[in-house]
Amino acid sequence: SGPELAAVVANRTVDVPDFPKPGIVFKDLMPLFADGQAFRTVIDGIVGHYPAGFDVVAGVEARGFVVAAAVAYATGAGVVPVRKAGKLPRKALSASYELEYGEATLEVHEDAFIAGQRVLVVDDVLATGGTAGAALDLVERAGGTIAGFTVVMELAFLKGRERLAPREVHALLTV
Ligand code: AMP
Repeated sequence: SGPELAAVVANRTVDVPDFPKPGIVFKDLMPLFADGQAFRTVIDGIVGHYPAGFDVVAGVEARGFVVAAAVAYATGAGVVPVRKAGKLPRKALSASYELEYGEATLEVHEDAFIAGQRVLVVDDVLATGGTAGAALDLVERAGGTIAGFTVVMELAFLKGRERLAPREVHALLTV
């Protein structure tokens, strides 16, 4: 159930104060992923939220890859990486967005999707929503249809959900 899933995530996540810089509390989900039973619960929880399914799972570098590959394998979907600038070997589309300090760029191969493929976009944590907004934009520009956007943990005080509206956000745990 929803509350049980949220508890599994909360119990296995570690807060790291002042990482990667002072004032940021980093949510480390690696202990959650390292626990086989908890990881399976998380993946099954995501899959169960999308009964209509999807064709491809797009994961955001780097922790989103872990979730994306597992969700794809569990459902028979394909997996596509949304990468940081300069990592993809072939022609790519890019989207830039504002960070707290400066700018970041994400890329996806221009031929990553067959037109109309239903794409579930996944990441570990939703903070301000800048990353997710760029990823969702890229998937659509590359011809995919968004089937959903899901994160393991949402940091509500940063208002990413509002920034992404009217797109729907699914989070296993909102703090
Ligand atoms: P944002 O673009 O602000 O929504 O940031 C989301 C991206 O940065 C995701 O890919 C997260 O992995 C990472 N991120 C941002 N803030 C945190 C945090 N407090 N703890 C862990 N990861 C974070």
